[in-house]
Amino acid sequence: MYKEFQTYLSEQLTEIRNNGLYKTERIIASAQDAVIKLSNGKEVINFCANNYLGLSNHPKLKEAASQALQERGYGMSSVRFICGTQDLHKSLEQAISDYFGTEDSILYAACFDANGGVFEPLLSEEDAIISDALNHASIIDGVRLCKAQRYRYANADMQDLEEQLKKAQAQRFRLIVTDGVFSMDGNVAPLDKIYELSRKYNAMVMVDESHSAGVVGATGKGVSEVYNLRGEIEIITGTLGKAFGGGIGGFTTGKKEIIEMLRQRSRPYLFSNSIPPAVVAAGIKTFDLLKTDNSLNRKLHENTKYFVTRMQEAGFDIKPTQSAICAVMLYDAKLSQDLAARLLDEGIYVVGFYYPVVPKGQARIRVQVSAAHRKEDLDRCVDAFIKAGKALKVI
Ligand SMILES: *Cc1c(COP(=O)(O)O)cnc(C)c1O
Repeated sequence: MYKEFQTYLSEQLTEIRNNGLYKTERIIASAQDAVIKLSNGKEVINFCANNYLGLSNHPKLKEAASQALQERGYGMSSVRFICGTQDLHKSLEQAISDYFGTEDSILYAACFDANGGVFEPLLSEEDAIISDALNHASIIDGVRLCKAQRYRYANADMQDLEEQLKKAQAQRFRLIVTDGVFSMDGNVAPLDKIYELSRKYNAMVMVDESHSAGVVGATGKGVSEVYNLRGEIEIITGTLGKAFGGGIGGFTTGKKEIIEMLRQRSRPYLFSNSIPPAVVAAGIKTFDLLKTDNSLNRKLHENTKYFVTRMQEAGFDIKPTQSAICAVMLYDAKLSQDLAARLLDEGIYVVGFYYPVVPKGQARIRVQVSAAHRKEDLDRCVDAFIKAGKALKVI
């Protein structure tokens, strides 16, 4: 059988290559940080990690992880409900609840699992999920695993959401689902209006704060902070893999009966291993740091503002952003790839995105600013953009 299957796969892979959609991986030969070393020895400034608060290689997190590794061992060798829960796991769940101002939290191996395991245990065919069209793949997959009726509204389009909510009145329970920050544009979901509509049309709200927690809001606590909705949102999911240290792990936090039910019925929680103590301890340290010190979040915003301002002064077209995601619009797919290649030659690591990751004719370079960037890193990035941008007649 495998001979035929091999031919089939080879053909498909060739087609992916021919369509220009083949993904290659650049190999890093250093820690993840503002400046990284590539496997060819070249040092570049990194503008494409989700290392928003610069915690990926933070000494305090590494120290907490090392200590837990020594004292609590390497692995848990168990799911949570058999013998995979240490006091550390409970402390981290409490720290997450304190951070978001929610009633209870549940840990997963990743936010992909949190989203994959949140819908099916809570909702059934009598219910409705109303989902933003640009929601993350893990939300889409999670919704697929659930029997609830599905409604979709255009990205952040409140008129469309209202239409869908009207249709969904036929169902028993309604849940509106949105990303907090959309990863390609950096726009924040209009949670104030979503919340208002949810109360008007008797629905619950779920926000995935993966790209927004640690980033947006007066103290960086996410979209629910931006709109003064702390404690009001029924379900929040998020990741430890972005701003919060960038290791691994995800969570769902919110109303306590919801979390209690997930502990009973959520399949990625029940049938997958516990996060290792070192990762959990670094997570606790992260929330500890963020509780007493808001300087990393402030630095991130200063950096983003500085970068965007300089780029706009240079004549670049940047989508309005409220997060640390800056979409430098180029519109043309090839141009986005050529510019990214030139920037890499200049020691700036960024990625160009084009169809089907973004709509046709909307190609761009996504720059992700970090609190770990120094002013000179930002200057080098803008200067490289100016040099390469002039050479390619973008500006
Ligand atoms: C990154 C991301 C995820 C996945 O998080 P992991 O913890 O890496 O699985 C889920 N949702 C959104 C919106 C994300 O941006």
